[in-house]
Amino acid sequence: MTYHWRQDTTHPAYLISLVVGKFVELKDRAGQVPLHGYVPRGREAEGRELFRKTPAMIAAFSKVFGYPYPYPKYAQSTVFDFTFGGMENTGATTLTVRALQTPEEAIDQTYETLISHELAHQWWGDLVTCRDWSEGWLNEGFATYSEVVFWEAEHGRDEADFARLEQMCSYLVEDNGDYRRPLVETAYRYPSEIFDRHLYEKGACVVHMLRATLGDAVWRRGLKRYLERHAFGGVETGDLKRACEEVSGRNLTWFFDQWAHQGGHPELKVAREWDANARALLLTIEQVQEPDSVTPAVFHIPMVLELKVGDRRLRLPIEAKQRKETIRIPLPQKPRYVALDPEHDMMKLMEFPRSEEELLYGLQESSFSLERVRCARELATRGDPPVVEALFRAARGDRFWGVRIAALASLGEIGARRAGMADRIAELGKGQKPRVRRAVAWALGWMGGEEAIRHLRKMVSTDPSKFTAGMALLGIARSKREEAFDLLRAELARESHRDILRQHIFDGFVILKDPRAVPILLDYTRPEHRNEAREAATKALGKLGILDEKVESRLIELLRDPWFRVRSAAARSLAKLKAPRAEGAIREALQGEPMDTVQSAFEGALDDLKAPR
Ligand SMILES: [Zn+2]
Repeated sequence: MTYHWRQDTTHPAYLISLVVGKFVELKDRAGQVPLHGYVPRGREAEGRELFRKTPAMIAAFSKVFGYPYPYPKYAQSTVFDFTFGGMENTGATTLTVRALQTPEEAIDQTYETLISHELAHQWWGDLVTCRDWSEGWLNEGFATYSEVVFWEAEHGRDEADFARLEQMCSYLVEDNGDYRRPLVETAYRYPSEIFDRHLYEKGACVVHMLRATLGDAVWRRGLKRYLERHAFGGVETGDLKRACEEVSGRNLTWFFDQWAHQGGHPELKVAREWDANARALLLTIEQVQEPDSVTPAVFHIPMVLELKVGDRRLRLPIEAKQRKETIRIPLPQKPRYVALDPEHDMMKLMEFPRSEEELLYGLQESSFSLERVRCARELATRGDPPVVEALFRAARGDRFWGVRIAALASLGEIGARRAGMADRIAELGKGQKPRVRRAVAWALGWMGGEEAIRHLRKMVSTDPSKFTAGMALLGIARSKREEAFDLLRAELARESHRDILRQHIFDGFVILKDPRAVPILLDYTRPEHRNEAREAATKALGKLGILDEKVESRLIELLRDPWFRVRSAAARSLAKLKAPRAEGAIREALQGEPMDTVQSAFEGALDDLKAPR
């Protein structure tokens, strides 16, 4: 039989896809657009649940982006052993079959972000395509920020803001631990290296800052103009800049220079002083980031300053654009509370010492969840009774669960310094969603101590959330108590979605640095185990730091494993262990390695081997 597929619109070659297999088709509609979902037989219910919100997503994106869904249909198929989470082929997204979850599995994880991300690419990536990979943030940064856009439409502002905070943190981890680069980067060995936390998460933060800088309405007009002008064509950052400049009437060279063509982010030291004679607030903002070839000495940062003056709440726009500057704000009386960028729109690190009263006020009264998160976390360094009680109140009853998590983290840190809080903290998990219970486990693990461990053991055996049970196991490992290794080992037999529990147990072994973990980890690299567990075991062998002949030989074998993630992990572990035969073995494996992501991991491992120990 011969099939013909005809598409009327142009599209780039990398978005061609052919999926062959036995599938059940699930049909739906989003207005005029027919939707097709393809899942393995027997997984129909999970498939319907996975695709359930696609029509709402298409509606939300068409509205916010100002451009209707661009293709005559949208299909999503789920396939085994998929390289990524998803791939946004034109009108026909491919997804990992792992996204199909039973209701029990779904209490821990949602794939709404994956579904919305790949769908958003139909605009950002497929309709307008980055001209080359150096401009890839125009694809991935926008698709990643679109997760936040749908999250906001579906779950509200607090949830969207928290998702944005998590994206920022994920960029900061890479920037802090691995490397810093400009968002638009032309120097790379393999295109896959560009697909990092800068491209996705920092890119998403930049799209948000563009929105905060222009204002919602102008930002939307800018996106619409950019999409309409470049539909079915290639784009680069300058095209987005021009569209936004035209609709706003503003010169945005500074914005795209500092955020797209340079790297890093502002690090601010903020201080304020009340000048009683002149009746003015003096706000000093110093930019202390260390300038280098990538990082500018000065960022231009528009922000909102929020003040509580008497009974009035004031919101003033200010702009930081010097290395150090003092802004003078005349006021009728000394403000009770000062918050800079309370909505956390700007990506930055900020030190801004405030009084305990102000932090307590912010935690209880701010209407912005991320300001309440900031206040809750800054209170961790204090520990007097009013602070502890305020944190307990927030952990129990803040209207947004993200603030409850922040309060729990601070309570855990305070609890590590003073005894007797474990029972009350464990109590806070009752009736809460899994994410909050996971924070309870984190706090108890951070505290350690007999009481905390007793609660953690109970969570391991009773909590229906595997992430919570896993976090409890990590907490037990962190205590480094005599019985910790046996407690972890006893849970190895338990099955969980994507082997989440075993992944946590292996991380616990790494914390314990116990040689008895070596034969267990070696066993879990064998092909009869699931790929998730095999990859985690391969990584843990490197992090455990125990090198012997068996470990080295097995890791060398794994350089040719059928599952590509295991091959990459094996190279990294060999490099971490500085294994004597590593260099030769990795060089040899590199010759026959077909995938560029793995080639890149191999080269990275060879670089690490050259670096001094
Ligand atoms: Zn993507």
